[in-house]
Amino acid sequence: MRLDKLLANSGYGSRKEVKKLLKSGAVKVDDKVVKDAKNHVNHETQFVTVFGEEVEYREFIYLMLHKPQGVLSAIEDRSQKTVIDLLEEEDAMFEPFPVGRLDKDTEGLLLLTNDGQLAHQLLSPKKHVPKTYYAVILGEVTEEDIIAFKNGVTLDDGYVTMPADLTILKAGNQSEIELTIMEGKFHQVKRMFLSVDKKVTYLKRMKMGPLELDEELNLGEYRELTDEEISQLK
Ligand code: URA
Repeated sequence: MRLDKLLANSGYGSRKEVKKLLKSGAVKVDDKVVKDAKNHVNHETQFVTVFGEEVEYREFIYLMLHKPQGVLSAIEDRSQKTVIDLLEEEDAMFEPFPVGRLDKDTEGLLLLTNDGQLAHQLLSPKKHVPKTYYAVILGEVTEEDIIAFKNGVTLDDGYVTMPADLTILKAGNQSEIELTIMEGKFHQVKRMFLSVDKKVTYLKRMKMGPLELDEELNLGEYRELTDEEISQLK
C-alpha cells in the first residue's frame, strides 16, 4: 500500500496533510526517513513511525450515513452525485462502499464500509437481516394490507414476498406506516404497496439489523459506528 494512503487511513489527515508530514521528515519506515508519498509499504512486515511513534494501521471503516434524497447509493457515477461524494476525503480514502442500496429518492440509514466480509453477511439472502422503513402512502392502508403483507404478496415479476410486518401509524387517504422486511428485492417496499394498489410517496429506512438511524444525524451527515454497534453487526 502507498505510504500516504496508509498514513491517511491511520488518522494522520488528508493526503495533502500527509504529504506535508512526509516532507518534514517525521515519517520513518524501518528506521529510515521516507519522504516520498508514493513509497509502498507492507504494514504487516514493516515498521512505520511518525515522530517516533508507531503507526497503528487501521484497515476497516464503518460509517452510518443519513442518506438524503437525490444521491445515488453507488461508488461513482458519471453525471450524478453519489453517497461517496458526501464523505470527507480522509474517510473516502478507505474506499468504503454502500452495503445494499436505497433508491435515489429514498432517505435514511445507509451503512458504508470497506469490510467486504461483513457486507456480504448483511446482504446474504440466507441471513434475512430485517430492515425497517417509515413510509407515507397515497391511499388508505388497511388491516387487509397488514394480513396480505404477513402472508406474502406477489410482486409484478411474480415473486412472492416473505412475511413482512406492517404497522399503520396514521390511517387516512395519506397513510403513514412502518414496514419491516427480511429481504431486499429491487424497489421492494414500493412494489409491495403497488401490489395492493397503493403508492409510496416518501420512504425512509430507519433500521437495518441491529443498527438504528441516529437521530442526531441530519440529512447528508454521517458518523462512524461505535465499537458496540460494530460488534452487534458481526
Ligand atoms: N424499498 C424500496 O422500494 N426502495 C428502497 O430504496 C428501499 C426499499
